[in-house]
Amino acid sequence: MYAFNPDAGYLVSIDMDTENAKVAITDFDCNIKAHSNCLIDINDGPEKVLDRIKEAVFELLAELRLDPDAVKGIGVGIPGPVEFASGMPISPTIMPGWDRYPIKEYWARYFNCPSYIDNDVNIMALGEYAKGLKFQANNVIYIKTAAGIGAGIICDGNLYRGSNGSAGDIGHFDVGGDVICWCGNRGCLEASAGGKAIVAKARESALAGKSEFLLGILEKKGELHLEDIALGMQRQDSLCAELIRESSVLIGRVIASIVNFFNPELILVGASYSEFDDTLLAAIRQGVYQRSLPLSTRNLSIQKSILGNQAGLIGAAYMTLEQLILNSINDQEDVAIL
Ligand SMILES: [Zn+2]
Repeated sequence: MYAFNPDAGYLVSIDMDTENAKVAITDFDCNIKAHSNCLIDINDGPEKVLDRIKEAVFELLAELRLDPDAVKGIGVGIPGPVEFASGMPISPTIMPGWDRYPIKEYWARYFNCPSYIDNDVNIMALGEYAKGLKFQANNVIYIKTAAGIGAGIICDGNLYRGSNGSAGDIGHFDVGGDVICWCGNRGCLEASAGGKAIVAKARESALAGKSEFLLGILEKKGELHLEDIALGMQRQDSLCAELIRESSVLIGRVIASIVNFFNPELILVGASYSEFDDTLLAAIRQGVYQRSLPLSTRNLSIQKSILGNQAGLIGAAYMTLEQLILNSINDQEDVAIL
C-alpha cells in the first residue's frame, strides 16, 4: 500500500466533448483545485480548439497563482479513438481535421512536462475505478451516454484499450432498424438511441404536435438540444419520458449482450443529464435480467456513475499520475515525485 504526497506537484486535466471542454488543475491525489468549462466546436480543428483550451488552462493557473513549471503532467480525454502510445487520434469520425494530429507535441510547446491522451470514455472508466470505487471491483463496464454512446472496460483491474485503442466502441452495435448512422451502416445503436437521434425524434414529434412543451422551445429558439429533453423530463412531459425510455431499452439490450460476453461484476452508467438516470437504469436492468444468463447476473450490480460529470476530469488526472509513475519506474529516475 502506498499514498501520494498530494503536494508533490500539479496536473492539468482536460475532458473534451464535441461542444465543450472541461478543464481542471488537480493535485497529485487527483483533487480538483480549480476548474472551468469552455465552449468549443470540435469541427474547428485541433489548433483552434486546443488554443482555446490552453487559454482556459493558463487562466486557472493564474487563479491559483501557479507557475506553469508547477505542472508535472497533462491528461487529455478526447471523444474518439486514440493510439495511446503516440497520443494521436485515429480516424475520429466526429472530429474532422484531427486524424493523427500530434496533441502531445502541441502541449510540449507550452509545458515542460509529459502529456497523455486517451479516449474520453476510457478516462471516465479509469476515474470511476480508481477514485470512485477505490479499486473495490475488478471487472467493470462504464457506459457513457451523451451525443454518442461508448463503454470503458476495466478488466481484471486494468483499463482494457484493445489492440488499437478502440475497445468499447458500442455505439455501432447493430440493434436493427433502418436508421442510417454517420458511420455509413444502418441500425447502429448510436443512430437510434444516441443524443443526436433523440433530439431529431423530439423535433419531429414536437412539430407533429405531440409535445406542447418542446414545440414551445422549438418556436422560441429554433432548435432543440438534449438539455431541453432533460428539462422536459423534470416537467413530466410524456413525450420526453417516452423518448428516453425507448432509447434506454435499446441501450439495455446491447448491455445485456456485453454482460453475456464479458461477465462484469459492476456496470456504471453515466448519463449526460441526471434526469435520464433512473429511466436509463431501469431499462438497462430490465434488458440485462431478461436477456442475460443467470450465471452472468448472479453477482452483477448496475449502478449510477459515482463521480458524475467529474469522472472524466478525475480520470484524466489519475491516468496521468499512473503514467508518470510507470515512466519513472521505467527510467529509474525522478522517483522523487512520489
Ligand atoms: Zn454506426
